[in-house]
Amino acid sequence: MRNKGLEPFSNLVDAFGALPGIGEKSALKLAYHIATGGAYDGIKLSHAIEQAVESIQRCSRCNNLSQDELCDICSDELRESSKVCIVESAKDILTIEKLGQYNGRYYVLSDIDTFDLVHLREALKDARELIFAFAPSIASDTMMLYIESQLEDLSLTFTKIAQGVPTGISLESVDTLSLARAIEDRVTL
Ligand SMILES: [Zn+2]
Repeated sequence: MRNKGLEPFSNLVDAFGALPGIGEKSALKLAYHIATGGAYDGIKLSHAIEQAVESIQRCSRCNNLSQDELCDICSDELRESSKVCIVESAKDILTIEKLGQYNGRYYVLSDIDTFDLVHLREALKDARELIFAFAPSIASDTMMLYIESQLEDLSLTFTKIAQGVPTGISLESVDTLSLARAIEDRVTL
């Protein structure tokens, strides 16, 4: 049962508990840390959250996280616009960027049911190669085939990252060397 006097604490536990990857125990630990760690930690955290919520948006072109209408990658003239790498999450862009090997653009496609084909086509305007960087699964195979079929009229080469990325895990869990190799050795669909 909840102690009414400690409702702000319970709310904090709930808020932490609602975050991905945070179980009940961790939520309690974090809330306890904030509640007892002095005002500074808590205020710093709430300020960082507020700032992120207010300033981070989706890039209007590629759906990457961005502070401006266009993300750093889309507004970088030195990136090759002939290559567009399709990823499932903006997190995957960070993972691939960390390798420092890919110099094309990206497009974040999170959900096959809601994705906007017109928007995707717009993002592919200057593209010659479309690279699927999905973690292998039956669902991602289906998605690749579907997208390819919808873009057949564009003169694009469709490739996907090579085998070697294990099935059923996200790109961020793949070791750097395997992922770098998988991007390098991409295969035509
Ligand atoms: Zn962008």
